[in-house]
Amino acid sequence: MAIILDGNKIAAEIRAEIASGVQSLATAGMRPGLAVILVGHNPASEIYVRGKVKSCEEVGIHGEKLTPPDTISTADLLDLVERLNRRDEIDGILVQLPLPAQVDSKKILMAVDPAKDVDGFHPVNVGFLSTQRPGLVPCTPAGIMEILQRSAIPIASREAVIVGRSDIVGKPTAMLLINANATVTVCHSKTHDLPGVCRRADILVAAIGRAGMITRDFVKPGATVIDVGMNKITERAEFNRLFAGNAKRKETFLAKGSTLVGDVHPEVAEVAGAITPVPGGVGPLTIAMLMANTVKAAKMRRGSPVPALSGESA
Ligand code: NAP
Repeated sequence: MAIILDGNKIAAEIRAEIASGVQSLATAGMRPGLAVILVGHNPASEIYVRGKVKSCEEVGIHGEKLTPPDTISTADLLDLVERLNRRDEIDGILVQLPLPAQVDSKKILMAVDPAKDVDGFHPVNVGFLSTQRPGLVPCTPAGIMEILQRSAIPIASREAVIVGRSDIVGKPTAMLLINANATVTVCHSKTHDLPGVCRRADILVAAIGRAGMITRDFVKPGATVIDVGMNKITERAEFNRLFAGNAKRKETFLAKGSTLVGDVHPEVAEVAGAITPVPGGVGPLTIAMLMANTVKAAKMRRGSPVPALSGESA
């Protein structure tokens, strides 16, 4: 059976390091600040934003939530972003997606000062990552690198295969793994013989958004499997396909009417060497790395040296 790569434990380690770093900054009179813009009342977004602001409090970062109405125009939201760009005590700006249809999301994300772009989505930061310059790296990919490095999974000279080519997960993860000297293949919905390509992987990253799609025949025995997927399943047949015989899961499923599953079928734990669970794998790292990015942004904006976290300088 695979070793379980415990994301909660790794995220707690990182949060403790951040909290002690924030304390040292406080003695130097600096308190990093994060502003999160939450437009309207999307229930999932409200939960994510609450988690982000709570996490700020826990590590000693100033966390601020701005909640414009869902009728806001692109011009008014741009104005809000500009005001945050100008506020010196705000080091990080995060615009929670999705934005309402009338708002031009690309225009808003482009307006965030790259030095405060703690999501790492601005093309300036994308460029810094691809040219191995210091910058802000997207949180989920940075979290994947932390899991691999802190679990002592060898990366250099290994074959890494990523399923998914999104701008927020697949592509930046590929870039980080290339920068860490892996040989990287990126797959997507048009890839020919996906199971065959995946079976080449020493490190297989699944960022697809399809419950349990990666089955055992996609996995080389002993490979490390990173499951980024977060899919809520509610259908009984789907539950049985994924979790037949798992009494604990069944209890939660019956009580809640749903359960969270990754892109990797649970049977993969029988062939992989190491695997991230869902929940409790990559997810907890995403918020931890948002905190790390806020501190990094605070230091970079003030010209302080930034110790390397994540694979950017590996
Ligand atoms: P996305 O933008 O929808 O991208 C999905 C990618 O998967 C696309 O590149 C797509 O290919 C590919 N794909 C879809 N079906 C495929 C198939 N049958 N075979 C091969 N490739 C296929 O998704 P995302 O934003 O990257 O997110 C991926 C998953 O990660 C989702 O479940 C999301 O909820 C989860 N996620 C988790 C976290 C976390 O903190 N744990 C953070 C972000 C995302 P094409 O490009 O060809 O369409």
